[in-house]
Amino acid sequence: ELDLVYFVKAVKNMIVMAEENRDYLSQLDSDVGDGDHGINLSIGFRDVEKKLENFDIETENISSLFKSVGMSLLGKVGGASGPLYGSFFLAFGSTLNNKKVITTDEFITAFGAAVDKVQFRGKAELNDKTMIDVLIPAKEYLFAHKESDFKDTLVEVVKLMKERSIEIKPLVAKKGRAMRLGDRAIGHFDPGAESSWRILECFLLALN
Ligand code: ADP
Ligand code: MG
Ligand code: MG
Repeated sequence: ELDLVYFVKAVKNMIVMAEENRDYLSQLDSDVGDGDHGINLSIGFRDVEKKLENFDIETENISSLFKSVGMSLLGKVGGASGPLYGSFFLAFGSTLNNKKVITTDEFITAFGAAVDKVQFRGKAELNDKTMIDVLIPAKEYLFAHKESDFKDTLVEVVKLMKERSIEIKPLVAKKGRAMRLGDRAIGHFDPGAESSWRILECFLLALN
């Protein structure tokens, strides 16, 4: 029920999201890190945009789309988030076996594999105050609501991720650069959690 046109739309939403939130996400990162999270995503998604110009919807498929997104983020973005989001999209694409249309069940399976890959690469646990704190609850919600209306489910997932992103503000970071701040990270957002729910929102908005 989800076709290649849908996924191209979702990726285009991410390109716009990365530009619109570039300064905001970098600002959050300047509070707890090195101030480049928005810049990193913007560099990555500008490369995605460039590659999308030569993307032929007739010959390509959902796997090749997300492998290309993953390669851009992995190859162009320095820092922690490039390899993590890069692995996320590579795993998402690899799980889909060159299909042009997938079911929402297949989406959920691919999303689960993508989140697992981020956790495998980054080794973050829940409450380490990273993107994992919003990605794991999203995965769990999706797996628990496979039978529900997909759009309703994505609405709830984005809401849940936003809430989690706020809930982790009082925590001390146990991974990434913010770890070095110790107690001074308390009260601040995690930039990666804030970008993660926005990425999921791009999948939701493409459904309209
Ligand atoms: P860098 O910290 O290298 O400058 P970014 O600023 O682009 O990279 O990304 C920072 C974000 O990456 C953090 O807010 C956090 O969500 C995420 N992150 C960092 N380390 C890890 C990790 N080990 N596992 C999961 N996410 C992580
Ligand atoms: Mg940074
Ligand atoms: Mg950096």
